[in-house]
Amino acid sequence: MKRRDFLKAGAIAAAASAFISPKADLHAAEESGVSVKRYTEIGKTGLKMSDISCGCGSLPSASLVLRAIDKGINYFDTAPDYGKSETYIGEAMKNIKRDKIILASKFCNPMPYPSHLPLGSTKDQYIASIDGSLSRLKTDYLDFVFVHAMGEVDKDKEKELKRLLDENMLEAYQALKKAGKVRHLAVSSHGPTNMEDLLMAAVDSGHYEMIMPAFNFMKFPKIPDVLKEAKKKGVGVVAMKTLAGAKDMQLDFKGADFAQSAFKWTLKHPEVNGLVVSMKSVADLDNYLPASGQEYSAADERVLRQYASAHGSSYCRTGCGICEGACSNGVDIAASLRFQMYFKDYGMEKRAMTSYARLNNKAEVCLTCKNTECTGACPYGLPVAQMLRETHQTLTFNV
Ligand code: SF4
Ligand code: SF4
Repeated sequence: MKRRDFLKAGAIAAAASAFISPKADLHAAEESGVSVKRYTEIGKTGLKMSDISCGCGSLPSASLVLRAIDKGINYFDTAPDYGKSETYIGEAMKNIKRDKIILASKFCNPMPYPSHLPLGSTKDQYIASIDGSLSRLKTDYLDFVFVHAMGEVDKDKEKELKRLLDENMLEAYQALKKAGKVRHLAVSSHGPTNMEDLLMAAVDSGHYEMIMPAFNFMKFPKIPDVLKEAKKKGVGVVAMKTLAGAKDMQLDFKGADFAQSAFKWTLKHPEVNGLVVSMKSVADLDNYLPASGQEYSAADERVLRQYASAHGSSYCRTGCGICEGACSNGVDIAASLRFQMYFKDYGMEKRAMTSYARLNNKAEVCLTCKNTECTGACPYGLPVAQMLRETHQTLTFNV
């Protein structure tokens, strides 16, 4: 057996062994012909994840979890505030061999997104949030628990640094670990403020075994330094927001697939162990998994250039936040535009609207504002003021 065939057979065997599956489901996977081709150890955890993995923010059903496993995906990123995601995984759990999948959830409550535990939460609140997740997931442990959304819960860097190293959180984590309820501590950030600095602080702290940054081909000049440091210190890296907005895919890429090219770009970085992408349907699995284990090529480069040329002046770079503070009215610019992206580009309308409704400084004031300082602050030439007006109208149905 050739090495490539051996690896392929191993991947399929890994998938099958993770799944207590009715035969029909396994046959369905064989019919579709796509599956995970590469597994990489997450830092020094000893856990090997599928390079393309399941973000559960828009998970539609338990059956999609089983289908993803069937295709070799073994890493699932969920959270209490990702709709019914944890419940669906819990429903699937009776058909899953628990030790064959990697489950990651968040210190978070099941209310509308975002419900991450803020600074000042007690040790008992941190522990209770995990007990809630375990109950919904119908399992007795998480492989990873995240301190989530660094740079979003508070724009004040010092306050977020305190949340990163919160004694109550760390004590809760140790207690949970001792009780066998969690195995590893992780941290994530999609900005909009201080993403790189906060993740670097996490890596340097020695407390975190994995980081999850927003990372794609359209920005992030300082992220490579964070990735290098993470690799040096044996901290795993799982990327998110890899589709650079996932804007309309109607462009003619001449037979190539934008998502697959974007994934290959992210995965070509040796520090990146894998990526999570929101899986909403079987079609997503079929569209995304052909990129697994594949090399980034000149053809991929052309596809990404074409996308950047079409969307570079309308994509608000997740994790950027350069314009934060530019508005004298204090509008939450990057967060507003990210929720608009969830609505328009990700098809996550409910989550986008409920999240926007909870923002302190919405873009309503932009409807009548004549200032242009926000637009002037964006180095990528986005018509920020106009985009914010549209955002407010869309996310409040104020049209
Ligand atoms: S509007 Fe421009 S500067 Fe502001 S966060 Fe988005 S990309 Fe960055
Ligand atoms: S349009 Fe006016 S209120 Fe809105 S973000 Fe820009 S400067 Fe601020």
